[in-house]
Amino acid sequence: MAKPLDEKVEPIFQSVLARNPGETEFHQATREVLESISPVLVKHPAFTHHKIIERICEPERQIIFRVPWTDDQGTVQINRGFRVEFNSALGPYKGGLRFHPSVYLGIIKFLGFEQIFKNALTGMPIGGGKGGSDFDPKGKSDEEVMRFCQSFMTELYRHIGEHTDVPAGDIGVGGREIGYMFGQYKRITNRWEAGVLTGKGLDWGGSLVRTEATGYGATFFVEEMLKVRGDSFEGKTCVVSGSGNVAIYTIEKIAELGGKTVACSDSNGYIYDEKGIDLETVQRLKEIERRRIKDYCEIHKHAKYVANGNIWEIPCQVAMPSATQNEINGKDAKMLVQNGCIAVGEGANMPTTPEGVKIFLDAQIAYGPGKAANAGGVATSALEMQQNACRDSWDFEYTEERLRKIMRSIHNLCYETAMEYGSPGNYVDGANIAGFIRVAKAMVAFGVV
Ligand code: NDP
Repeated sequence: MAKPLDEKVEPIFQSVLARNPGETEFHQATREVLESISPVLVKHPAFTHHKIIERICEPERQIIFRVPWTDDQGTVQINRGFRVEFNSALGPYKGGLRFHPSVYLGIIKFLGFEQIFKNALTGMPIGGGKGGSDFDPKGKSDEEVMRFCQSFMTELYRHIGEHTDVPAGDIGVGGREIGYMFGQYKRITNRWEAGVLTGKGLDWGGSLVRTEATGYGATFFVEEMLKVRGDSFEGKTCVVSGSGNVAIYTIEKIAELGGKTVACSDSNGYIYDEKGIDLETVQRLKEIERRRIKDYCEIHKHAKYVANGNIWEIPCQVAMPSATQNEINGKDAKMLVQNGCIAVGEGANMPTTPEGVKIFLDAQIAYGPGKAANAGGVATSALEMQQNACRDSWDFEYTEERLRKIMRSIHNLCYETAMEYGSPGNYVDGANIAGFIRVAKAMVAFGVV
């Protein structure tokens, strides 16, 4: 059962449901924030007067466009592109692009909404937005991906800019896709505008540590949660779902901090390697050869592949969901807790259903919600923008240290805010309240806009 909403907030949520029919992921994301923020309205009555919640739940701008392209057989294909510019109170819209067949407006809106609070938590001057397409890069040739990206940017370019809206990667969008889109943006606008996209290649304006940032950052966040409990990663068995960008660098940092990841996955199944996942193999299979995770077992014969398996059935002390939304349901959460899981750090966005979240909170394990735990990616994107703005590039150690400090400060902000607002140890309330207050104060300052 979800937490009941406060009587002031319930009608606002009903209005969100009525105005955004069928967008279940967006409903889930807004409800979670609304459940946390009632105590804020008591301390800050001005937020009610200025209708901040109603305004924050309505995107500033939603763009939907046709993306026609030609496949290798010469057949014309049509996809749909999205960019939701949700909130620019704290800076230019900032958030990734997702290319996945499941993408529709409700997914982009949930991601854009989460992004507002996540970006606020970083303390950096970035607003919230998100975009993407129902295009599936899997199984496409490089040329097909290039033609799609060029067509996508041919519409998107008019809506973005370093002071307006700065997209980056997400599921299905990595260095290759960012490269094709940057090339097309440069060609159309005749501007070498580094700050228009982040996640760029290191030779042309990218930042060291951006590729690693979300996974490293999520692991640093869990390290901080464990520290509060007098514990660490040392000797811990970990499970990380997914095997993409976030998962790979989570596995790497866990190993550096003394933990051992025994399982990871893709959308077809999971692999289990009791000796610890060999990261080099996963990186080669996924980042270079674009193969499936089951091929890991061809190289490591002792490892086990479970097709369509549920990775959360593997006993672990630390779970780091790093694939997609709602990948841990109530049953999975119960299983994790019963099997001895003491910490969950969300590399993915909203990977746990509301039932699952409640189980983690009731069990009082260390639970770091995505909007706090995975903020290292966007924070390092903001560091990339800083380097672009001053035509500079920092070394790996310095940039990683900045990331580590940012994650520590996000952790402490969530921890202290939860305490201040009467839910000690609850990072969900801490993140929602702290992020909301920062955005709300700016919105009040700007008047009714
Ligand atoms: P990638 O595309 O690099 O990897 C995604 C991984 O998750 C793949 O292993 C993929 O498997 C798996 N996956 C995707 N969709 C599903 C699904 N429906 N069911 C099961 N598995 C699935 O994406 P990222 O690593 O960049 O993103 C992972 C998560 O992290 C997302 O929730 C994203 O929003 C979040 N995130 C990413 C950030 C970033 O900087 N990249 C920043 C903050 C959050 P398969 O290959 O089979 O599809």
